[in-house]
Amino acid sequence: MPVPYKHEPLTTFKTDPTATAEIISSIKKVESELGKKYPIIIDGKFFESAHIVHSINPANKAEIIGRVHYATKEIAEQAIQSSLTHFETWKNTSASLRAGILFRAAAIVRRRKHEFNAWLVKEVGKTWAEADGETAECIDFLEYYGRQILELSQGRPLNHNSWEHNEFTYLPLGVGIVIPPFNFSLAIMAGTVVAAVVTGNTVVLKPAETAPVIAAKFMEVLKEAGLPDGIVNYLPGSGAEIGDYLVDHPKTRFISFTGSRAVGCRIYERAAKVHEGQIWLKRVIAEMGGKDTIIVDKEADIELAAQSITKSAFAYSGQKCSACSRAVVHEAVYDAVLERVVELTEQLIVGNPTEETTFMGPVISEQSFEKIKRYIEIGKTEGRLMTGGQVDDSTGYFVEPTIFADIDENARLMKEEIFGPVLAFSKAKDFDHLLQIANNTDYGLTGAVISQNAANIERAKREFHVGNLYINRGCTAAIVGYQPFGGFNMSGTDSKAGSPDYLLLHVQAKSISETF
Ligand code: GLU
Repeated sequence: MPVPYKHEPLTTFKTDPTATAEIISSIKKVESELGKKYPIIIDGKFFESAHIVHSINPANKAEIIGRVHYATKEIAEQAIQSSLTHFETWKNTSASLRAGILFRAAAIVRRRKHEFNAWLVKEVGKTWAEADGETAECIDFLEYYGRQILELSQGRPLNHNSWEHNEFTYLPLGVGIVIPPFNFSLAIMAGTVVAAVVTGNTVVLKPAETAPVIAAKFMEVLKEAGLPDGIVNYLPGSGAEIGDYLVDHPKTRFISFTGSRAVGCRIYERAAKVHEGQIWLKRVIAEMGGKDTIIVDKEADIELAAQSITKSAFAYSGQKCSACSRAVVHEAVYDAVLERVVELTEQLIVGNPTEETTFMGPVISEQSFEKIKRYIEIGKTEGRLMTGGQVDDSTGYFVEPTIFADIDENARLMKEEIFGPVLAFSKAKDFDHLLQIANNTDYGLTGAVISQNAANIERAKREFHVGNLYINRGCTAAIVGYQPFGGFNMSGTDSKAGSPDYLLLHVQAKSISETF
């Protein structure tokens, strides 16, 4: 058995000159590798297609991160066939062999930590600290799921009669389609891929359209770690061309998706249909959006509330499913909290994430930039613009951290997911009202309560309907194995990533009884 799991420590660049030098040289190295070709990988072999799409740096649109070959339906079919063939052998490998590959992969990512950080800075606009947190999370998923499979492969104890022996074991499902998001294009991508693989399934990985290069880099890690060819096939492509094809395929056994509510619901619906030649009901693991709230009680540490709200709202430009997009504050402390959050927000440094001092970089794409811009206009009609509101796409997709005050609890800004640095403040008259506004949403992913009132905290534990509830801290930055992550209602299937239950979503249980 390996040593007990412990999460990967974060780098403190400020006090660590070696790490600072390493990330700077890694960014230079990555810059020297920009614009390369990234082919499709099936069975360990590279395939080029005529359809090449550029992955670009969202902080500098002119910079091409990679030229990515997009799969057609015909190539997608080959990927599924390869995954089907390899499933026949992979499903019979031992848990310890599979876990060993994850542990080696963790060591490789740890060794290449600052290189991965640099790719995250360049391809998805993460700051050094956010990139480092994500790379650590990737390592955590590898270390954690490796240990989990060793435990799970022991099976579960059963009752026996004297004339029989009973066994209860877990079998893999088959071919899984893994569709990760751009916002954790390393950690969630790796976590969802390896959870499937370590349980004995094979995977067709369709990387996020805005982050295919990071996924290609992770394919290198899996190969070096000893994962045989064809267990994970790398299939970049557009949702429109291959998304439905992969989901609808009769040989697809499960789909593991993280991304928007619209796409998640579409996948869920399509996966429910049984196609010609299909002999199972597909399983869907979906982690979708959030409209996450920090509530601030009358008795609360104002500074803690303001720091928690500011960081949770604007880190990674508000592009986390867990980000705080609603601050709901008791009227007795509303003005004080609002004023302090505005003050802190105005101190945030927005700029190119290649610079160490940057707190907030760009948003991911033109589409996202345009959507956020529309919501800023809506905000101006629904509330008081306190700070921000300016956007600039002359070099990259930059949006100022933006705060609207006095937003009605039923306004669009309080209901719809924006996925950008836009924060709505709403006032509540008492603790009942705070909870009522917090729960007034289709989603249920994260939430936080800032309060010094023990009875109210206990109430929030029972009544605040979110998958991840935090008390007296911000509502982002869950750690694998410490704060299993996943939400209720339209936030998804509450498939808690980084939990002792997660691998179970990728297996089916077999009960065997032998009579003597
Ligand atoms: N697990 C991340 C957090 O706790 C968020 C993941 C996501 O945005 O999908 O902040």
